[in-house]
Order: sequence, then C-alpha cells, then structure tokens
Amino acid sequence: MTSKSIKQNVARLLAELPVGVELVAAAKTRTAEEILEAVQAGIKIIGENYVKEAREAYKLVGKRAKWHFIGTLQKHNVRRNVLELFDMIESVDSLDIAKEIDKRCAQIGKIMPILIEVNSGREPQKSGVLPDAAEQLVREISSLGNIKVTGLMTMGPRFGNTEDSRPYFVETRKIFDKIKGLGLPNVEMRYLSMGMTNSYKVALQEGANIIRIGTRIFGERDQV
Ligand SMILES: *Cc1c(COP(=O)(O)O)cnc(C)c1O
Repeated sequence: MTSKSIKQNVARLLAELPVGVELVAAAKTRTAEEILEAVQAGIKIIGENYVKEAREAYKLVGKRAKWHFIGTLQKHNVRRNVLELFDMIESVDSLDIAKEIDKRCAQIGKIMPILIEVNSGREPQKSGVLPDAAEQLVREISSLGNIKVTGLMTMGPRFGNTEDSRPYFVETRKIFDKIKGLGLPNVEMRYLSMGMTNSYKVALQEGANIIRIGTRIFGERDQV
C-alpha cells in the first residue's frame, strides 16, 4: 500500500474514534517502513503477533510508538529482550505463561501490564481462556508481583456479517464488568480490547476502549 493511503486511512480512523478509545495498528506481515508511515500519521500503539517482525520494526520505529504483543505467546518466546520491547501483552491465556512473564520481568525489574485473552467463541483451535475460566485465571495471576492485569482482550469468531460478532463482545464485556466489580488487589480493569477491521464499530458500541485494526490501515494481507 502506498504511504499516501496509509496516511489517509489512519487519519480517517482517528477522526472516527470516540474520546477515550485507543487505536492499535495490527501490524502482522507489514514492513517496518509501512509501520513507520502509520506512526507518522498518528498511530501511537503498534500491535505485533510475531516477535521476529516486532524486533525488525522496532529497529526503525523505536520508542516513537508503544508496542503491544497481540499474538500467541509460547514459553520459549518469553525472553528478556521480548519483555524489554513490549509495553503490554494483550494475549495472556494461562497461568503457566503468566508465571514465565512474571519470573523474567522480575529479573529486569519491570512490571508488565497484561490483558487476559478470552476465547469468547469457545473455538477449540483458538487461543484464549474459556469465558467461564477467566475470573479464576485473573485471581491466580493477581498474586504475581511483576504482572499487572489491566483488562481483557478478545478476538471472537470471524463472520461475514458484523452483527454476528455482537453476542461475543457482549459476553466479554459482562466478564469484564464482573471482574472489575470484585476489586481484586493488584488488578486494575481499565482496558477492553475488542474489534478488528470488520467488527470494530460493533465492538465500540459494546464498550471496547482498545480496537486493533490491520486491514483498514494497511490494506489486504497476502496471508493471515
Ligand atoms: C490481525 C489481527 C487484528 C487485525 O485484523 P484486521 O482484520 O486486519 O483488522 C487484530 N487483532 C489480532 C489479534 C490480530 O491478529
């Protein structure tokens, strides 16, 4: 995509955003140059699915933006340099991974803000904790000193018709409100990250305050 259209796409999206909503540019498969264009057009947060791509882009973009990890995290990926790079991890879905993040962050003296990823569609092949297990996972993670739970993230099933996404966003919002109401120590429920290019309008109506947009900023991807 040309830099002119990336700039236009970002400007249009930013003009549409309600106050208090943060826009994450979901950058998988994009070049460092494309990502830098988006940042120069006003993007403040980059979302990365792959550590390797993130490190490549970081070399060019650096601290001009915040970096959120939004992909599937495996234990071997939780390394010191990864934890130094990212400002937030949106996709924590197990105590195991949380403990690894906690241990490594303790070594570098960092407290990592995280979101718990909820598998709101209960899809067997997808990552995320099942809706019924989310509260318990937050309780367990809340005892870890170098992690701070700051909200929830969900993808939801992919639909042609955006309206079909609504029930999954509604359910995630309910879990968010319930956990928030518990007032757990070391848990600060601030962020609800839901909605992508085809679903962000519905997600905003259902209370999202972080949306993660790729295609509508950078154009179609060759592969997902
Ligand atoms: C790719 C991706 C997005 C953005 O998807 P688009 O449909 O391109 O907007 C958002 N969140 C996650 C976790 C992704 O992997």
